[in-house]
Amino acid sequence: HVRTRFAPSPTGYLHVGGARTALFNYLFARKHDGTFVLRVEDTDQARNTDEARAAIFDGMSWLGLDWDEGEGKGGDFGPYNQSQRTAHYDKWFDVLKQKDRVYEDDGAWRFRFERKPITMTDLVCGEVTIDYTNLDNTPDMVVRRSDGSYVFHFVNVVDDLEMQITHVIRGEDHLMNTPKHLQLFEAFGVEPPQYAHIPLILNADGSKMSKRDTGAAVGDYSRQGYLPEGVVNFLALLGWNPKTDEEVFTLAELVDRFSLENVNRSPARFDLEKCAWLNQQHLLKLSPDDFAAAAKPFVEAAGLPITDRYPAAAAAVREKVRLLPEVPAALDFLLLDEIAIEDEPLAKVKNNAAAKELLAALAESFAGIQNWSADTAKQAIGETAQANGAKPGQLMFPTRVALSGKAGGPDLGDILAILGKDESVKRLRSFAE
Ligand code: GLU
Repeated sequence: HVRTRFAPSPTGYLHVGGARTALFNYLFARKHDGTFVLRVEDTDQARNTDEARAAIFDGMSWLGLDWDEGEGKGGDFGPYNQSQRTAHYDKWFDVLKQKDRVYEDDGAWRFRFERKPITMTDLVCGEVTIDYTNLDNTPDMVVRRSDGSYVFHFVNVVDDLEMQITHVIRGEDHLMNTPKHLQLFEAFGVEPPQYAHIPLILNADGSKMSKRDTGAAVGDYSRQGYLPEGVVNFLALLGWNPKTDEEVFTLAELVDRFSLENVNRSPARFDLEKCAWLNQQHLLKLSPDDFAAAAKPFVEAAGLPITDRYPAAAAAVREKVRLLPEVPAALDFLLLDEIAIEDEPLAKVKNNAAAKELLAALAESFAGIQNWSADTAKQAIGETAQANGAKPGQLMFPTRVALSGKAGGPDLGDILAILGKDESVKRLRSFAE
């Protein structure tokens, strides 16, 4: 039975690298009908904060990475906070003592390494060997400090052992720690888990991504209007190669396709443009109603009224946006009574007497339409243009500017249908004045 775990230290916000580690552990567990454990490595009292703990739980919940054991879930292998596991560490420390694998050194306790090469076969990185033969290169490591606290290597191994973790998937920064961990497992006489170290994440300029880089905090993505589905998809592609041209996957599809064999050895490139593009692909998967609901808080925050036209307006701009905060500017003219004319289209059309004459004629033609629809309105545009010796195309752009105040935007037919006859006539007349 596969058991994986995500073992964050609550010392800051949940960052992209941590979330990616959580995701890969989640995917592997779900793929194999296994168990995904959330263990909080909170032994560093000075640096741990409640905010950081909350950010981990919130971030994982937002991404949809539900865990089976740990905070709020319980489980048979608790407690799941390292700060509450001292009795467990004492017990295993005694095991090492009895086996004479630790010795006191100024009040601290060191673990006696076996003086031999240790080779591990990492599921991503392949064979890695550290030779412990030479005491000078690899001095015995402290496992218990003089204040009685235990070091990361020790508690990490005890927990993986007691929680019966079968696969440890974690960042490559831990690769060189693993032979130490294998030494401990051997000393305990317990079969170690399998390890998979996933590649570093680099910025576009090749530098190692740090917690301060833009896009590093998972919490920022929801505030910036990303969908969790888009972010999950983006995180999955940071180091995992789907081995197909397809790139857009839901969480369920990722579970289906994920394998550690297809995790790259080379570092992953962090590219927020890619994230925005993936987000757009997931926005396009939403039903019109779900899209309108997801965009609503951003439209309201921009101070726009949610009028009767809102559902249709949201549907009309759905294909035009990559991120939800772009929605208000894309549909504001459909919700407001008074539209603002952007300078550029205004200058082109408002100073053009011929265009304004056409618009005035169009307003009258619109006013005479009995059964208003995108089609009948467009037909009127064609007829008005023809009657005035112009091509329909020459009237389309001025009409768009008069109705929306913008040079671009949703399909003109959608705009006409959403605004309706009276509002369209009103806008044309006031523009042509
Ligand atoms: N608390 C460690 C970290 O956040 C866990 C390492 C591991 O997954 O084993 O880096």
